[in-house]
Amino acid sequence: MNEVVSKRNQLLAEKVIKGLASRNMSGYYAASREEALQLALRLIPEGASVTMGGSASANEIGLVQALKNGNYNFIDRDAAADKRAAMLAAYDADVFLSSVNAMTDDGILINIDGNANRVSAIAQGPRKVLFIVGMNKVCGSDPDSAMKRARNTAAPINAQRFGLSTPCTKTGACMDCKSPDTICCQFLITRYSRHKDRIHVILVNDNLGF
Ligand code: SF4
Repeated sequence: MNEVVSKRNQLLAEKVIKGLASRNMSGYYAASREEALQLALRLIPEGASVTMGGSASANEIGLVQALKNGNYNFIDRDAAADKRAAMLAAYDADVFLSSVNAMTDDGILINIDGNANRVSAIAQGPRKVLFIVGMNKVCGSDPDSAMKRARNTAAPINAQRFGLSTPCTKTGACMDCKSPDTICCQFLITRYSRHKDRIHVILVNDNLGF
C-alpha cells in the first residue's frame, strides 16, 4: 500500500476505533493483510466453532484457509450436505466471521442481505462476531453516506458476483428493484452492541471485498 495512503488509513482508523469503543465494540488496525490474519487468529481461540456469512474479505486475508487448516471447528456452509442445519448452527457458534458492506468513520456498521442469515447472526446468536474490513469500506460520519456505498457499490457488485438476474447486473447501478433475485431484502444498522466483547472489527490497510 502506498505510503501516504497508509498514513491516512492509520489516522482514519484511529478515529474509527474510538467510534467503535463509544458503541461498546472493539476495533483494531492492521497495517497489512498478514497482520490482519495474525490479529484475527489471536481473537479466535483454538478449538472454537467458527462460521461465516460469505465474506470475501476473510478469504482475501487468508483467514478462512487458516481456520480450515488449523485446530478449529470450521462450519463450512458451502460444503455442508445439510445447508439449513449448517445455517442454524451459526447461531450457536463461538465466532461468526463477516465483513461490512460499509461503515461510518465513527463506527456504525451497515449490512444488506438477501437470505438474512448473515445479518441475523450479526444481530444475535454467535458469542463473538469478527468483522474483517478493508479501509475502502469506511465512509464519512453521516450514516447516509455508508448506506449509499452499501446500496450503490457493494450490492450491485455482490449481485454480479452471484450471477443474479437483477437490474443492477445489467446496468451496474442500483435500480431499487423488487426483483425475485434481489439481495437487498434486509438492512442491518449496527449502532451499538449491548454485549461487551461480542463485536470486534479489524480494519485493514488495504482494499478488501466489494
Ligand atoms: S435493490 Fe435490486 S437493483 Fe438495487 S442493488 Fe439490490 S438487487 Fe441490485
